[in-house]
Amino acid sequence: MNVYDSARIKEMMLTEDHQFVDKIEQADIYIVNTCSVRDKPRQRVINHIKHAKNINPRLKVIITGCVAQIEGDSLFSEGADFVIGPDWYKELPALANQTDKESLNRDHFLRTGFKVDNPEFLQANPLRTGVSAFIPIQKGCNNFCAYCVVPYGRGPERSRPVDEILKEISVYAEKGVKEIFLLGQNVNSYHYKEVTFYDLLGKIAALFGVERIRFTTSHPKDLSEQLISTMASTPKLMPWFHLPLQSGSNRILKLMHRNYNREHYLELVHELRRQIENISLTTDVIVGFPGESEEDFGETYSLVEQVGYDGMISFKFSVRQGTAAEKMENHLPEQIKKDRLVRLQTMFENQISTNLERFSGKICKVLVEGKSRRSRDEAKGRIPQNIFVNFKLNGDLVPSELVNQIVDVKILEVRTHTLYGQMM
Ligand code: SF4
Repeated sequence: MNVYDSARIKEMMLTEDHQFVDKIEQADIYIVNTCSVRDKPRQRVINHIKHAKNINPRLKVIITGCVAQIEGDSLFSEGADFVIGPDWYKELPALANQTDKESLNRDHFLRTGFKVDNPEFLQANPLRTGVSAFIPIQKGCNNFCAYCVVPYGRGPERSRPVDEILKEISVYAEKGVKEIFLLGQNVNSYHYKEVTFYDLLGKIAALFGVERIRFTTSHPKDLSEQLISTMASTPKLMPWFHLPLQSGSNRILKLMHRNYNREHYLELVHELRRQIENISLTTDVIVGFPGESEEDFGETYSLVEQVGYDGMISFKFSVRQGTAAEKMENHLPEQIKKDRLVRLQTMFENQISTNLERFSGKICKVLVEGKSRRSRDEAKGRIPQNIFVNFKLNGDLVPSELVNQIVDVKILEVRTHTLYGQMM
């Protein structure tokens, strides 16, 4: 979401006749778009401000993103000149043109709070082209999972109007973008007037030029039977599903306020695999949530092992200010969290190569993204299951000639988290 916002902010500033410079010394304005999901977000932002102002004291520093929303006017005393939360980006170009002399009122430089009734979504600008386009379809989240700061930084859940989404995707499709990546904190609960998420997917799939549709993130409690059957019957919906688990223990899931249990999660996995051929499943896991016992951790470990994911993002629990988990008792020592994370990741690393072996010898459709990192004569791209593949080309072809094309690649080898193949 932040990558998308940064790109839109950049486009807006360029449209308003600002220019980008490579060095802080040459800049008049320095925008730091912040994320509060990472650890110690406030300190990271302060370090950015200090670093930039040390190099160029006349710089106007604008803090945007969730840290701006959560920390608010306290960032002024750290050197910020403007503090702009995620719902106020449309005002950025106009604000950036103003100086302290034009107003003595500090509130003038602060834009936080949420636009609940008329949320604004930044529009794509046709300047952007590429292999994939990221399209936000929602803002905010209503779930208040006990460990998560997102509802405080991004506000309540609001779904974007259908027409706006389709228009933005059409702009990209006209530019030749083949893959659409829908973004939201909980896309499964998208609801605009009578249009549900699976209705929206059907409308996007009907657009000319769109060839691959992906989305993230899903919440298991809102994953419906209709969504699974829509995926199964719509070839443009790629066979990849990111289904955050967070914990395999029902006791911990309850403490996390996740509103599903282990049994329901496994039923969803079963249904996804039953209806969607060779689907790839990926997940997020938190270990060491307050009060997690060795037995609770064992249930997470066994569930991850049982499902056999193709990708896992796993973290040790760490406190986010203002969340319910902050006030919980029984926070675990770092060493226990670290040890559990290492055990989980070691098992996953041993398992993933075996999981990916199912692609060996298969011919896969690959959307080419560019040259491979390892060899300039080889290309890279992703198969429908969202797994990276590096591959050898035919004859005299060079990777740049194939960018944004979908080609057939025979998978020859599995390499850690990626595949290796030969173009057919
Ligand atoms: S559903 Fe996701 S974004 Fe929303 S509170 Fe839970 S973890 Fe955070």
